[in-house]
Amino acid sequence: MRSPTFPLTRLRALAALAAALSCAALLPVSATAAPEPPPSSTRFVYAAGLIVPIPASIPHEEGDMVDRRILPDLRWIAQRYPIYVTDGYSGPLPDGEHVGCNNCHVKGSDHYNGLAVDIVPAEPSSICDSHWTAITRLALWAEPRQNMPVPPFRWVGYNGDAGHGCGNHLHLSWNHSPAARYELAEWVEVFPVGAGEGEAKPRGKKARAPKAPPGPMGGISQVTTGGLSPRGTGD
Ligand SMILES: [Zn+2]
Repeated sequence: MRSPTFPLTRLRALAALAAALSCAALLPVSATAAPEPPPSSTRFVYAAGLIVPIPASIPHEEGDMVDRRILPDLRWIAQRYPIYVTDGYSGPLPDGEHVGCNNCHVKGSDHYNGLAVDIVPAEPSSICDSHWTAITRLALWAEPRQNMPVPPFRWVGYNGDAGHGCGNHLHLSWNHSPAARYELAEWVEVFPVGAGEGEAKPRGKKARAPKAPPGPMGGISQVTTGGLSPRGTGD
């Protein structure tokens, strides 16, 4: 017996169309917005660091903290991308209390210096669906080409990096001077934001890295190979 293939096919096509339309309707506005231009300049912040709670203006898991020197950049990102920070600083506070996840980051992780965040969509989803569209845009903004993050970012973990990517999480870490585990870096590279942008621009045309760290030292490992990023480059 022949099945009525035409009507069924047509029904399926209509169902697919309806599903596509409903997905499109669910897309956040930001998913279709033009991409942000890359940071035009960066600067090196030598002001004293401090591990502080992430403010409410940056959606985050309760208790998450970071070095305050990356807060303006994070706030700028949160205003443009629907992010939710799931982890920032990971380690002890002066009073002995532990912040962040325990033993969940690789050796030499920038999380131990409060200069990295893990990000998921504000509307959570554990599969790579439309909720991740804006996060993917953010990842590509910070790292347009694999293993070549745009300054001030030191390491970007997303598609192509084990344990990261659409449906998992995005890792962003900022360039900083060598610092031992659980210690604050002497300087942090950031992109200028807001009213202070004019004065925040680095001297000269291009940002110049002060005393670039020679390599793995104390607690961070700068990516200098230009090859495949091994696990453990700031995750
Ligand atoms: Zn991370």
